[in-house]
Amino acid sequence: MAEITLTFPDGKQQNFPATASVADVAKSISTSLGKKAIAGKLDDQLVDLTAPLAKNGKITIITAKDPEALQVLWNTATLTLGAALHALYPTMTFGEHALTEHGFYYDTDNSEKPVSEDDLDKINAAMAKFVKEDGKITREVVSKADALKTFANEPYKTSLLNACPDDDVVLYHLGDFVDFGEAGVLPDTKLLKVSKLLSVAGAYWQGKSSNQMLQRVYGTAFFNQKEMDADDQRRQEAHDRDHRVIGNKLDLFFVDPKVGAGLPYWMPKGATIRRTIERYIIDKEVSNGYQHVYTPVLMNLDAYKTSGHWDHYREDMFPPMDMGDGEQLELRPMNCPSHIQIYKHHIRSYRELPVRIAELGMMHRYEKSGALSGLQRVREMTLNDGHTFVTLDQIQDEFKKILQLMISVYADFNINDYSFRLSYRDPKNTEKYFNDDAMWNRAQTMLKGAMDDLGLDYVEAEGEAAFYGPKLDVQTKTAGGNEETLSTIQLDFMLPERFNLTYVGSDGEEHRPVMIHRGLVSTMERFVAYLTEIYKGAFPTWLAPVQAVIIPVKNELHADYAYGVRNRMLKAGLRVEVDERNEKMGYKIREAQTQKIPYALVIGDQELEQASISVRHYGEDKAVNMDTNMFVDALAAEVKNYSRT
Ligand code: ATP
Ligand code: ZN
Repeated sequence: MAEITLTFPDGKQQNFPATASVADVAKSISTSLGKKAIAGKLDDQLVDLTAPLAKNGKITIITAKDPEALQVLWNTATLTLGAALHALYPTMTFGEHALTEHGFYYDTDNSEKPVSEDDLDKINAAMAKFVKEDGKITREVVSKADALKTFANEPYKTSLLNACPDDDVVLYHLGDFVDFGEAGVLPDTKLLKVSKLLSVAGAYWQGKSSNQMLQRVYGTAFFNQKEMDADDQRRQEAHDRDHRVIGNKLDLFFVDPKVGAGLPYWMPKGATIRRTIERYIIDKEVSNGYQHVYTPVLMNLDAYKTSGHWDHYREDMFPPMDMGDGEQLELRPMNCPSHIQIYKHHIRSYRELPVRIAELGMMHRYEKSGALSGLQRVREMTLNDGHTFVTLDQIQDEFKKILQLMISVYADFNINDYSFRLSYRDPKNTEKYFNDDAMWNRAQTMLKGAMDDLGLDYVEAEGEAAFYGPKLDVQTKTAGGNEETLSTIQLDFMLPERFNLTYVGSDGEEHRPVMIHRGLVSTMERFVAYLTEIYKGAFPTWLAPVQAVIIPVKNELHADYAYGVRNRMLKAGLRVEVDERNEKMGYKIREAQTQKIPYALVIGDQELEQASISVRHYGEDKAVNMDTNMFVDALAAEVKNYSRT
């Protein structure tokens, strides 16, 4: 009988019959491992517990304690969800399923009555029934042609199968439901004791908005209740932090797919936060040697052909507008070609360099509808963009200056949880990267040197650079736990070449500058989403849309004084409102807390007499009595210093 040689993690090797499965191998090691094994890995590929291993390789036995175990449990839960849905809705057809960081989802199409969140209890119960009956999952290897026959009435599955490059397909049967997918599915549903369906959301087939809208059912599962409880808590915290939830509660912004998916409307309060950031950033950049400009969002398509965006980035661009007279206009997906026009408009001398052009540049990207998320990922965005044009010798110094500026901006916003990632080219991949060895080596050494000089920690990622040069990314995490790039500094040797940029050197000759793309605080959209999440909506006073609310104890007695204080505060440049509604004082104070307004200022008889106010800071129970003028001065100073409270 044919044999295979398996290599264990400790390096030991052993021969087994080719028909041996992970279960057989585990049992041969010990009875207890045989019981605990739930799947295996052969050369880093997940394999099912009962599948014949059939080839030599490195073997790892997976038990519930291993990091891959949840993947196996979730694959099994996905199949069980499919079986439950099939039992409840016999005419339902199925789209894609996948695992996420925290669970799984399955796309469904039940045209007569699409699945909704009201159905989740019923579906949960149907899943539990399979688990209770220890539902057997059988595995069957069939040819692609046979699989296509099995799924003849499933248009989405058929399309997925057609796109699949393999000749054989593994089918999993549970009850009379059949499915295919990644390996790593349990042989029965016994271990699926703690599972839960979480939500239903619309999702276009394959993420394209021109396709059919399907219902995506999300769920999760764990090996025990304790892990599920911990996940419930994580989910609750993520929800409380979610900028879409807070944005709605505090009336900061909205996005309505009916008037345009991914096109946000900034409500007055959100707009105030954004305006404050924009003013801050412009002042900061101007004082650091940047020249702020305004350039159009529309540009002749030729510019994007020259820049290479049309060849490499077209999928993310809105289609060009044919003006009928031969002109094609394009909504810009990036501001670089616009700033290049500004640079090119004059002859530049080496004495002027670095030339630093900045703009809060609006741009449009046709992001996949499935990827859109609140302000986090949108289709119209305004980038805190800047391009500096430098000589080769100036790269390191300018890179350091940008970094220092970025770090000082982060400090003003009290952003502390971020990490740096330096991305290099893969030197072996000459196709993917702009071909100039000396330039790459020099630039990469300069960036690394600058990071080391500044004593900053970073990870290095080979093969992650842009086509046109190495870069530094600043990574942060969203409430949902996803890593996002907040800021970036990218060197570019290519665009200066393509647009024939020059400067006149001290030798009187023309030379090629290097371009540095940099975004300090990302797009206004992503940055406000991020800030909303880190502050949980309690913006520091300098950013808060309403910095203080004045609450007269009795409108008829104290409103005049309240308006006097308000006017004094308005004069000091503060954002303040008087809450004159016919509500109880306690209610108004609570409301100020709910709206996360930094200060609630109560005015009654005593305050009127003493020209004082009773000041209650957000999150504190006690109020303190303060002289009005002193308070206003202190608050104005707090705002001016971007204080963290
Ligand atoms: P991502 O990988 O997030 O799509 P990118 O690498 O395409 O971003 P850049 O072209 O470098 O991004 O854009 C500059 C910055 O703009 C990014 O670092 C990111 O913070 C922000 N950004 C990019 N796309 C979006 C979007 N769709 N919505 C909001 N902000 C965005
Ligand atoms: Zn750029």
